[in-house]
Amino acid sequence: MELRKDPITRSWVITGDDLFEAPEHSTECLFCNSASRPGHVVASLSNSSGSWSARSIVHPHPLYHIEGDPSRRGDGLYDRMGSVGAHEVIVENPRHDGHFWNATDKEIELFLRLAAQRIQDLKRDCRFKYISVFKNYGEAAGQEFAHPTSELTATIFVPRRVLYELRAAREFYESKERCVFCDILSQEERQGIRILESRGDYVAFCPYAPRVPYETWILPRGHESSFERAGASRVGTLADLAALLRRTLLRIRTVADAFHLVLHTSPNSQHPSATLGYWKTLDEDYHWHIEILPIIQAKARSYTFKEIYYSPVTSETAVLRLRQASV
Ligand SMILES: [Zn+2]
Ligand SMILES: [Zn+2]
Ligand SMILES: [Zn+2]
Repeated sequence: MELRKDPITRSWVITGDDLFEAPEHSTECLFCNSASRPGHVVASLSNSSGSWSARSIVHPHPLYHIEGDPSRRGDGLYDRMGSVGAHEVIVENPRHDGHFWNATDKEIELFLRLAAQRIQDLKRDCRFKYISVFKNYGEAAGQEFAHPTSELTATIFVPRRVLYELRAAREFYESKERCVFCDILSQEERQGIRILESRGDYVAFCPYAPRVPYETWILPRGHESSFERAGASRVGTLADLAALLRRTLLRIRTVADAFHLVLHTSPNSQHPSATLGYWKTLDEDYHWHIEILPIIQAKARSYTFKEIYYSPVTSETAVLRLRQASV
Protein backbone atom coordinates (compact mmCIF):
# COMPACT_ATOMS: atom_id res chain seq x y z
CA MET A 1 0.00 0.00 0.00
CA GLU A 2 1.14 3.53 -0.65
CA LEU A 3 0.03 7.12 -0.27
CA ARG A 4 -0.54 9.22 -3.38
CA LYS A 5 -1.20 12.93 -3.50
CA ASP A 6 -3.90 14.36 -5.72
CA PRO A 7 -1.97 17.22 -7.38
CA ILE A 8 -5.15 19.31 -7.74
CA THR A 9 -6.78 19.13 -4.30
CA ARG A 10 -3.45 18.34 -2.54
CA SER A 11 -5.13 15.59 -0.54
CA TRP A 12 -3.50 12.22 0.08
CA VAL A 13 -5.21 8.94 -0.71
CA ILE A 14 -4.19 5.48 0.40
CA THR A 15 -4.15 2.95 -2.40
CA GLY A 16 -2.94 -0.56 -3.11
CA ASP A 17 -4.18 -3.76 -4.67
CA ASP A 18 -4.46 -5.61 -1.38
CA LEU A 19 -7.11 -3.40 0.20
CA PHE A 20 -10.09 -5.64 -0.36
CA GLU A 21 -8.84 -8.90 1.09
CA ALA A 22 -11.77 -10.38 2.95
CA PRO A 23 -11.03 -10.58 6.67
CA GLU A 24 -11.02 -14.11 8.01
CA HIS A 25 -14.24 -14.94 9.79
CA SER A 26 -13.80 -16.49 13.15
CA THR A 27 -16.55 -17.34 15.56
CA GLU A 28 -14.85 -16.00 18.65
CA CYS A 29 -14.65 -12.26 19.25
CA LEU A 30 -11.11 -10.93 18.94
CA PHE A 31 -11.69 -8.34 21.61
CA CYS A 32 -13.66 -10.19 24.27
CA ASN A 33 -10.75 -12.60 24.25
CA SER A 34 -7.91 -10.21 23.68
CA ALA A 35 -6.45 -11.02 27.10
CA SER A 36 -5.04 -14.11 25.38
CA ARG A 37 -3.06 -11.94 22.95
CA PRO A 38 -1.06 -9.72 25.31
CA GLY A 39 1.50 -8.79 22.65
CA HIS A 40 -1.14 -6.87 20.75
CA VAL A 41 -2.23 -4.67 23.65
CA VAL A 42 -0.61 -1.25 23.27
CA ALA A 43 -2.19 0.44 26.29
CA SER A 44 -4.91 -0.29 28.78
CA LEU A 45 -6.88 1.55 31.47
CA SER A 46 -8.48 -0.19 34.41
CA ASN A 47 -11.53 0.62 36.50
CA SER A 48 -11.47 1.02 40.28
CA SER A 49 -11.78 -2.75 40.81
CA GLY A 50 -8.61 -3.33 38.79
CA SER A 51 -9.98 -5.03 35.66
CA TRP A 52 -9.48 -3.45 32.26
CA SER A 53 -12.13 -1.08 30.99
CA ALA A 54 -10.64 0.30 27.77
CA ARG A 55 -7.62 -0.87 25.83
CA SER A 56 -5.80 -0.11 22.63
CA ILE A 57 -4.72 -2.96 20.37
CA VAL A 58 -2.76 -3.10 17.12
CA HIS A 59 -5.32 -3.31 14.30
CA PRO A 60 -5.46 -6.90 12.98
CA HIS A 61 -5.45 -5.60 9.37
CA PRO A 62 -3.58 -2.30 9.64
CA LEU A 63 -3.72 0.28 6.84
CA TYR A 64 -0.54 1.88 8.17
CA HIS A 65 2.64 0.30 9.47
CA ILE A 66 5.04 1.64 12.05
CA GLU A 67 8.12 0.53 10.11
CA GLY A 68 8.95 1.50 6.58
CA ASP A 69 10.21 4.36 4.51
CA PRO A 70 8.01 7.42 4.86
CA SER A 71 10.12 9.51 2.51
CA ARG A 72 8.31 11.35 -0.21
CA ARG A 73 9.19 10.32 -3.75
CA GLY A 74 8.41 12.14 -6.93
CA ASP A 75 7.01 10.54 -10.08
CA GLY A 76 6.97 13.35 -12.62
CA LEU A 77 4.48 15.82 -11.23
CA TYR A 78 3.11 13.27 -8.76
CA ASP A 79 4.04 12.67 -5.12
CA ARG A 80 3.92 9.40 -3.27
CA MET A 81 4.90 8.10 0.18
CA GLY A 82 4.99 4.76 1.94
CA SER A 83 1.96 4.08 4.15
CA VAL A 84 3.90 4.61 7.36
CA GLY A 85 1.88 5.24 10.47
CA ALA A 86 0.03 3.50 13.25
CA HIS A 87 -3.37 1.84 13.17
CA GLU A 88 -4.95 0.74 16.44
CA VAL A 89 -8.32 -0.52 17.59
CA ILE A 90 -9.50 1.12 20.81
CA VAL A 91 -11.72 -1.38 22.57
CA GLU A 92 -14.25 0.84 24.29
CA ASN A 93 -15.58 -1.68 26.75
CA PRO A 94 -14.82 -5.30 27.78
CA ARG A 95 -18.53 -6.15 27.38
CA HIS A 96 -19.50 -7.27 23.89
CA ASP A 97 -22.72 -5.22 24.08
CA GLY A 98 -21.13 -2.30 25.94
CA HIS A 99 -21.65 0.30 23.21
CA PHE A 100 -21.62 3.92 24.37
CA TRP A 101 -25.40 3.94 24.85
CA ASN A 102 -25.21 0.81 27.03
CA ALA A 103 -22.11 1.89 28.91
CA THR A 104 -21.73 3.81 32.16
CA ASP A 105 -20.42 7.36 32.10
CA LYS A 106 -17.36 6.12 34.00
CA GLU A 107 -16.61 3.54 31.28
CA ILE A 108 -16.95 6.18 28.56
CA GLU A 109 -14.72 8.51 30.57
CA LEU A 110 -12.00 5.83 30.72
CA PHE A 111 -12.29 5.31 26.96
CA LEU A 112 -11.91 9.08 26.40
CA ARG A 113 -8.92 9.23 28.73
CA LEU A 114 -7.25 6.32 26.95
CA ALA A 115 -7.84 7.99 23.56
CA ALA A 116 -6.23 11.19 24.94
CA GLN A 117 -3.24 9.21 26.23
CA ARG A 118 -2.74 7.40 22.92
CA ILE A 119 -2.83 10.68 21.00
CA GLN A 120 -0.33 12.27 23.38
CA ASP A 121 1.91 9.25 23.16
CA LEU A 122 1.87 9.05 19.35
CA LYS A 123 2.48 12.80 19.04
CA ARG A 124 5.90 12.18 20.60
CA ASP A 125 6.84 10.50 17.32
CA CYS A 126 7.67 13.54 15.22
CA ARG A 127 7.19 11.61 11.95
CA PHE A 128 3.44 11.75 12.52
CA LYS A 129 1.54 14.84 11.47
CA TYR A 130 -1.87 13.84 12.67
CA ILE A 131 -3.60 11.38 14.99
CA SER A 132 -7.23 10.54 14.16
CA VAL A 133 -9.73 8.82 16.44
CA PHE A 134 -12.97 7.75 14.82
CA LYS A 135 -15.77 5.25 15.00
CA ASN A 136 -17.85 3.66 12.26
CA TYR A 137 -21.04 2.23 13.65
CA GLY A 138 -23.58 0.21 11.68
CA GLU A 139 -23.35 -1.69 8.44
CA ALA A 140 -23.91 1.41 6.29
CA ALA A 141 -20.98 3.08 8.07
CA GLY A 142 -18.56 0.20 7.38
CA GLN A 143 -18.43 -1.14 10.92
CA GLU A 144 -15.70 -3.78 11.05
CA PHE A 145 -16.17 -5.53 14.38
CA ALA A 146 -19.29 -6.40 16.36
CA HIS A 147 -17.50 -5.56 19.61
CA PRO A 148 -17.70 -1.88 20.71
CA THR A 149 -14.55 -0.40 19.20
CA SER A 150 -13.17 2.83 17.81
CA GLU A 151 -10.09 3.22 15.64
CA LEU A 152 -7.00 5.34 15.87
CA THR A 153 -4.62 6.18 13.04
CA ALA A 154 -1.38 8.12 13.17
CA THR A 155 -0.51 9.45 9.71
CA ILE A 156 2.35 11.33 8.08
CA PHE A 157 -0.18 13.70 6.51
CA VAL A 158 -3.13 15.71 7.81
CA PRO A 159 -6.49 14.31 6.64
CA ARG A 160 -8.22 16.53 4.08
CA ARG A 161 -11.20 17.67 6.13
CA VAL A 162 -8.97 18.62 9.08
CA LEU A 163 -6.63 20.48 6.76
CA TYR A 164 -9.55 22.54 5.42
CA GLU A 165 -10.61 23.34 8.97
CA LEU A 166 -7.07 24.30 10.02
CA ARG A 167 -6.60 26.61 7.04
CA ALA A 168 -10.02 28.24 7.50
CA ALA A 169 -9.55 28.67 11.25
CA ARG A 170 -6.14 30.26 10.72
CA GLU A 171 -7.51 32.67 8.11
CA PHE A 172 -10.38 33.66 10.40
CA TYR A 173 -7.90 34.25 13.21
CA GLU A 174 -5.62 36.33 11.00
CA SER A 175 -8.41 38.78 10.19
CA LYS A 176 -10.38 38.79 13.46
CA GLU A 177 -7.92 37.58 16.13
CA ARG A 178 -10.63 35.29 17.41
CA CYS A 179 -11.29 31.56 17.24
CA VAL A 180 -14.03 30.78 14.71
CA PHE A 181 -15.28 27.83 16.80
CA CYS A 182 -15.61 30.03 19.93
CA ASP A 183 -17.53 32.56 17.83
CA ILE A 184 -19.84 29.88 16.42
CA LEU A 185 -20.50 28.50 19.88
CA SER A 186 -21.27 31.88 21.43
CA GLN A 187 -23.69 32.76 18.62
CA GLU A 188 -25.36 29.34 18.86
CA GLU A 189 -25.75 29.68 22.63
CA ARG A 190 -27.15 33.19 22.20
CA GLN A 191 -29.70 32.07 19.59
CA GLY A 192 -30.47 28.69 21.15
CA ILE A 193 -32.21 27.30 18.06
CA ARG A 194 -29.64 24.62 17.16
CA ILE A 195 -28.41 23.70 20.66
CA LEU A 196 -29.16 20.09 21.52
CA GLU A 197 -27.87 19.92 25.09
CA SER A 198 -25.09 21.29 27.24
CA ARG A 199 -23.42 19.62 30.18
CA GLY A 200 -20.80 21.34 32.27
CA ASP A 201 -18.30 22.83 29.84
CA TYR A 202 -19.55 20.84 26.82
CA VAL A 203 -22.18 21.75 24.26
CA ALA A 204 -23.85 19.54 21.62
CA PHE A 205 -25.48 21.31 18.69
CA CYS A 206 -26.50 20.79 15.07
CA PRO A 207 -24.27 22.91 12.81
CA TYR A 208 -25.81 25.69 10.71
CA ALA A 209 -24.85 24.09 7.35
CA PRO A 210 -25.03 20.33 7.94
CA ARG A 211 -23.42 17.87 5.51
CA VAL A 212 -25.92 15.19 6.44
CA PRO A 213 -29.28 15.21 8.26
CA TYR A 214 -28.85 15.28 12.05
CA GLU A 215 -25.14 16.09 11.89
CA THR A 216 -24.15 16.96 15.46
CA TRP A 217 -21.00 18.47 16.96
CA ILE A 218 -19.81 18.43 20.54
CA LEU A 219 -17.42 21.20 21.61
CA PRO A 220 -15.91 22.36 24.87
CA ARG A 221 -17.08 25.89 25.70
CA GLY A 222 -13.66 26.91 26.98
CA HIS A 223 -11.16 27.45 24.18
CA GLU A 224 -8.72 24.53 23.76
CA SER A 225 -7.01 23.34 20.58
CA SER A 226 -6.09 19.83 21.78
CA PHE A 227 -8.46 17.20 23.05
CA GLU A 228 -5.56 15.22 24.49
CA ARG A 229 -4.40 18.13 26.62
CA ALA A 230 -7.93 18.60 27.95
CA GLY A 231 -8.29 14.85 28.36
CA ALA A 232 -5.09 14.43 30.30
CA SER A 233 -5.12 17.45 32.57
CA ARG A 234 -8.72 18.29 33.38
CA VAL A 235 -9.79 14.80 34.32
CA GLY A 236 -12.92 15.90 36.16
CA THR A 237 -14.53 17.45 33.11
CA LEU A 238 -14.30 14.28 31.00
CA ALA A 239 -17.22 12.93 33.05
CA ASP A 240 -19.45 15.67 31.57
CA LEU A 241 -18.20 14.89 28.07
CA ALA A 242 -18.85 11.16 28.60
CA ALA A 243 -22.42 11.81 29.72
CA LEU A 244 -23.10 14.21 26.86
CA LEU A 245 -21.64 11.78 24.31
CA ARG A 246 -23.76 8.91 25.63
CA ARG A 247 -26.95 11.00 25.64
CA THR A 248 -26.27 12.46 22.20
CA LEU A 249 -25.69 9.03 20.64
CA LEU A 250 -28.89 7.75 22.27
CA ARG A 251 -30.71 10.59 20.52
CA ILE A 252 -28.96 9.97 17.19
CA ARG A 253 -29.90 6.28 17.36
CA THR A 254 -33.59 7.23 17.33
CA VAL A 255 -33.16 8.63 13.80
CA ALA A 256 -30.29 6.59 12.27
CA ASP A 257 -28.97 3.01 12.51
CA ALA A 258 -25.46 4.00 11.46
CA PHE A 259 -23.10 6.89 11.98
CA HIS A 260 -19.53 8.03 11.69
CA LEU A 261 -18.01 9.72 14.72
CA VAL A 262 -14.73 11.58 14.45
CA LEU A 263 -12.59 13.53 16.87
CA HIS A 264 -10.91 16.60 15.42
CA THR A 265 -7.95 17.76 17.46
CA SER A 266 -4.86 19.82 16.68
CA PRO A 267 -2.12 18.35 14.46
CA ASN A 268 1.25 17.33 15.86
CA SER A 269 3.27 20.44 16.61
CA GLN A 270 6.36 18.22 17.14
CA HIS A 271 6.43 17.64 13.40
CA PRO A 272 9.37 19.50 11.79
CA SER A 273 7.07 21.55 9.52
CA ALA A 274 5.66 23.25 12.62
CA THR A 275 9.09 24.63 13.50
CA LEU A 276 8.93 26.72 10.34
CA GLY A 277 6.22 28.79 12.01
CA TYR A 278 3.54 27.27 9.83
CA TRP A 279 1.23 26.69 12.80
CA LYS A 280 2.36 29.52 15.07
CA THR A 281 -1.18 30.50 16.07
CA LEU A 282 -2.49 26.92 16.19
CA ASP A 283 -3.26 26.96 19.91
CA GLU A 284 -5.25 30.19 19.52
CA ASP A 285 -7.03 29.50 16.24
CA TYR A 286 -8.03 25.82 16.40
CA HIS A 287 -10.62 24.32 18.77
CA TRP A 288 -11.05 20.57 19.20
CA HIS A 289 -14.47 18.99 18.72
CA ILE A 290 -16.32 15.76 18.00
CA GLU A 291 -18.41 15.41 14.84
CA ILE A 292 -21.17 12.83 14.53
CA LEU A 293 -22.38 12.15 10.99
CA PRO A 294 -25.49 9.94 11.01
CA ILE A 295 -26.11 7.86 7.90
CA ILE A 296 -29.61 8.05 6.53
CA GLN A 297 -29.63 4.99 4.30
CA ALA A 298 -31.53 6.34 1.29
CA LYS A 299 -29.11 9.17 0.65
CA ALA A 300 -25.85 7.40 1.29
CA ARG A 301 -25.40 6.10 -2.25
CA SER A 302 -26.21 9.20 -4.26
CA TYR A 303 -23.42 10.90 -6.14
CA THR A 304 -24.67 14.37 -5.17
CA PHE A 305 -24.10 13.41 -1.59
CA LYS A 306 -20.37 12.93 -2.22
CA GLU A 307 -19.80 16.14 -4.15
CA ILE A 308 -22.30 18.65 -2.79
CA TYR A 309 -23.71 18.00 0.62
CA TYR A 310 -27.48 17.82 0.56
CA SER A 311 -29.39 17.59 3.79
CA PRO A 312 -33.17 17.20 3.47
CA VAL A 313 -33.59 18.07 7.16
CA THR A 314 -32.54 21.52 8.40
CA SER A 315 -30.55 21.72 11.64
CA GLU A 316 -33.40 23.63 13.31
CA THR A 317 -35.79 20.74 12.60
CA ALA A 318 -33.16 18.10 13.40
CA VAL A 319 -32.48 19.57 16.83
CA LEU A 320 -36.20 19.64 17.69
CA ARG A 321 -36.55 15.93 16.85
CA LEU A 322 -33.36 14.97 18.69
CA ARG A 323 -34.34 16.97 21.79
CA GLN A 324 -37.61 15.03 21.94
CA ALA A 325 -35.86 11.65 22.04
CA SER A 326 -36.04 10.08 25.47
CA VAL A 327 -32.53 9.50 26.84
ZN1 LIG B 1 -16.59 -9.08 21.94
ZN1 LIG C 1 -12.04 28.44 20.44
ZN1 LIG D 1 -14.12 19.16 12.44
